[in-house]
Amino acid sequence: MPGTVNAIVPLSLLEAVRSVDIPEGGDEEVEYVQEHRNKRLGLSDTVIAQIRRYKDALKRNQQIPIHEASGIARLIGRRPDAEGIFTRAGTIVANRMYQMISSTTRQIIHLLPGFLARPLAFRQVKRAGEKYLGAKVRRVGASIVLGVTESVTYGTAPKAIGCLYYESALREMLKLLVSSGGMIDHVHCRERGEDICEWRAEWRAVKTSQ
Ligand SMILES: [Zn+2]
Repeated sequence: MPGTVNAIVPLSLLEAVRSVDIPEGGDEEVEYVQEHRNKRLGLSDTVIAQIRRYKDALKRNQQIPIHEASGIARLIGRRPDAEGIFTRAGTIVANRMYQMISSTTRQIIHLLPGFLARPLAFRQVKRAGEKYLGAKVRRVGASIVLGVTESVTYGTAPKAIGCLYYESALREMLKLLVSSGGMIDHVHCRERGEDICEWRAEWRAVKTSQ
């Protein structure tokens, strides 16, 4: 649907804010939480209610207006810790996408040697990227390229920091699927006046072929 995003996107952004804003010690420091509730966005009742709403929408496969998701990204972009939050949100969305791949498929990918696992992993990244991130994923030589036209996070923070969301999601997906730890380049960016944000990742598998 044009003008909308999968609920997993705003959900991961808010979950990242929440995880950063929760004080160390968790439940044991309820009083501290109460005191700081109003100061920390991630602990506000609104954020907790929104997280619940997005989880429901994700279950029902309901899309969310893109401006709602980019509104959250803009709130994050104003914070001094925006870089860490966008990176964490990318990790969160990748883990959620990974959990939605059937466990059989995940096991097969992990059992196979790298050269057989990579094509299967690619298919999963492509499927998840399209469905959840609105991304186009393709292979170029030994690289995997992920492109997003309707980016939720571009222009929401200085120095293209918002783009770290998708970059971190791609990195984490490749790490989870094929233990890949290669370089990722942000080759095209809407913040540079181009019409797409695109990342190219090397398939550098740590796994040895058998
Ligand atoms: Zn970009």
